[in-house]
Amino acid sequence: MEKRRLAVILGIRPDVIRASLILNCIRADDEVDVTFIWSGQHYSDNLKDIFFRELKVAPPEIELKAGGESDTDITTAVIAKLHPVLEELRPSAAVFLGDTNTTMGCLAVAQCNIPIVHIEGCMRSYDWRMPEEKYRTVIDHLSDVIYAYLPEYKQQGIDEGLNPESIVVTGNPIVDVLEEYYYKRKSRYDEIATDEFYRQRGITKGDYYLMTCHRRENVDNLNSFKAILDLIGATDRKVYFPASYRTQKVLQETGLRCPDNVIMVDPVGYQEMLILTVDSAGVITDSGTVVEETCVLGVPSLQMRKSTERPQVYDVGSSVKFDPAEPDFYPSDVMFHKLESLRGHTWENPLGDGKSSQRISEDLLTRLKEGGFRNHRPSDYHVDTHRSYRDDGL
Ligand code: UDP
Repeated sequence: MEKRRLAVILGIRPDVIRASLILNCIRADDEVDVTFIWSGQHYSDNLKDIFFRELKVAPPEIELKAGGESDTDITTAVIAKLHPVLEELRPSAAVFLGDTNTTMGCLAVAQCNIPIVHIEGCMRSYDWRMPEEKYRTVIDHLSDVIYAYLPEYKQQGIDEGLNPESIVVTGNPIVDVLEEYYYKRKSRYDEIATDEFYRQRGITKGDYYLMTCHRRENVDNLNSFKAILDLIGATDRKVYFPASYRTQKVLQETGLRCPDNVIMVDPVGYQEMLILTVDSAGVITDSGTVVEETCVLGVPSLQMRKSTERPQVYDVGSSVKFDPAEPDFYPSDVMFHKLESLRGHTWENPLGDGKSSQRISEDLLTRLKEGGFRNHRPSDYHVDTHRSYRDDGL
């Protein structure tokens, strides 16, 4: 008998990190056939392949190479290139993760009438300026099965009319990833993090802030980007800044300069990133995944975002907010005082119990083997379908 097939479509750095354990688990099952498809949204070695190597994820079976300059170029290329692949593979379902251009490949899946699965479903920032918020909403409303990290996310989906039976609460896989790749290997990380490691990077262990900054609403808005550079220039500490290539390009094109205390480098691998995170005095970031990691690892963070779909990191007191669009409300001395005051505090990790990847993998495999992907249409449960389906009076 032919094996049931699942397509998993990912395309950016944090996708590999977050899905690493899930991919390894479902690919190890001989009874099913998993095709890992890489969209090509991220393509350079240090945004893609290094993560396959470090997280021991076998490379994708299919690379769509759906690159492009703009979001439109990328999304349309993903849809156009994914469609024929799906027509040939005819998987039982297609799995996406998160809120990226790659997830808009779900339109090709919908056109093929193949069930859609969304990991990281029903997160909402309620900030309609963000393309990510629109993408999340679109894919959730097209999905047959949604894995939501927390019960409150499931409730958000239900409040939008999604079918509760389609939403499975799993916990956040980043907790499992940090357990597997950080805590279980901590002694190895300690060995690498020598004084020499820090000297080579121009920083001293414990006496620097780590920073990442890549969001469109921050780097594409000159005033917001300037406010960020002013903020980080106002601390006495060094700021170590692995900057995404887009961010570097904006700096070049606009002529904006990083302040003198900032050491800007190319993006780093996951192992190096985790070392730099745990040994920092705090992390300054606009990344969704990084604030989760700092929350789990017990490192304070300063979030450079007006809104977040991950408010739990504020609730437990692991993060403070800076809105780059309204810098006058967030004076730098107050911000750094707040960030420093989080140090020495402990908080409970509110994101998961370390078994999320296992839950998602087991649910996927069960559905794959038992044919359980097609759920009710998302809003069937509360609409009267009688008028559409009636066969009386013919
Ligand atoms: N990361 C990394 N190297 C870097 C910057 C980030 O390994 O130079 C990791 C980081 O630890 C986190 C993920 O990449 O796991 C975050 O990616 P990004 O901020 O691009 O995406 P987002 O989470 O905002 O979607």
